[in-house]
Amino acid sequence: MPLDDLFDEAARQLTICNSCRYCAGYCPVWPALELRTTLEQRDLTHLANLCHDCGDCLSACMYAPPHEFAIDPPKAFAAVREDTYRRYVWPHRAPGVLGTGLAFVAVGVVLALLARLLTGRWFTAAHTSGAPYDVLPHGMLLIAVGVPSLWAAGVFGCAVVRYWHDIHGPLNGLFRPRVWATTFTQAVQLRHMTGADAGCERPGRRGFHLVLVYGFGLCVLSTMAAAVAQNVLGAQPPYPWLSVPVISGSVGGVAMIVGGTGLWVRSGGSGFLWALLVLAATGMLTLLLRETVAFGPLLLLHVAAVVVAFGIAPYSKFVHGIFRMLSIHHDNLER
Ligand code: SF4
Ligand code: SF4
Repeated sequence: MPLDDLFDEAARQLTICNSCRYCAGYCPVWPALELRTTLEQRDLTHLANLCHDCGDCLSACMYAPPHEFAIDPPKAFAAVREDTYRRYVWPHRAPGVLGTGLAFVAVGVVLALLARLLTGRWFTAAHTSGAPYDVLPHGMLLIAVGVPSLWAAGVFGCAVVRYWHDIHGPLNGLFRPRVWATTFTQAVQLRHMTGADAGCERPGRRGFHLVLVYGFGLCVLSTMAAAVAQNVLGAQPPYPWLSVPVISGSVGGVAMIVGGTGLWVRSGGSGFLWALLVLAATGMLTLLLRETVAFGPLLLLHVAAVVVAFGIAPYSKFVHGIFRMLSIHHDNLER
């Protein structure tokens, strides 16, 4: 659908909703809609990203198809969100599972060749010490993970500024710590995904979402703890089984596998979810088999998955979390 038609259709539906107001208590979209008498593109973009796609309003709607009004807010909002991802993230590319898999293979081959060049041996040579820098030199690991991380941070930073400027205006709204505390609490609890307090229409979706997000958070904690152990305390990897990096990484890895698999089954797969699952599975295997000859190949696969996941994050479903959080923050400021 052409862009103007897409926004015209969303505005048509929401104008009817604003007269009806039956769904007023379902989620923050509806009180936010009531604050508006006219609906410009910026309003529709904000409301679409505030919607968590629970489906409750559609289930309740007496004007849903086949009624001639053909009201379907989740569908209209999903189309506007797609436009958000295209408009605010540059350059827009959305790799599928196949494209992500090919990138994974290409990155793995480049890493293997570089490691051979720098260490003088192949990653398949027996490494049973569990020491990652025996397989991939420290500097090479830093560059391999640092470059896609900085790229993703730069793309996200530009997207955040442009999106916020469009939906809110002055950037000083981004610097409100107290409101951010509320925003962050609502976002990490996925509170708005429960719709009319009756639970998500697609059972398990919110739960798997939470497990995946918290698992990812624990893996980030594991990486940060390992960095502190190495650079501040001077302790080189591998770390003991009963240490913060290993415990948080193990629990986080299992959570990511459970949450990611559940989401894949419930809502379908994507390139980013695929990369996250490979990242978690190879991370767990690297840990479990770190004193065997499988350690070298598994570590290489794990680092390739990290590089791909970070590199494609701005062009994947991951971006919905950024825009949604900003819309929740804008909504909290409006209130
Ligand atoms: S979705 Fe349907 S029931 Fe809900 S406010 Fe809109 S028109 Fe009314
Ligand atoms: S969050 Fe649920 S109730 Fe609210 S607009 Fe989206 S689909 Fe409708």
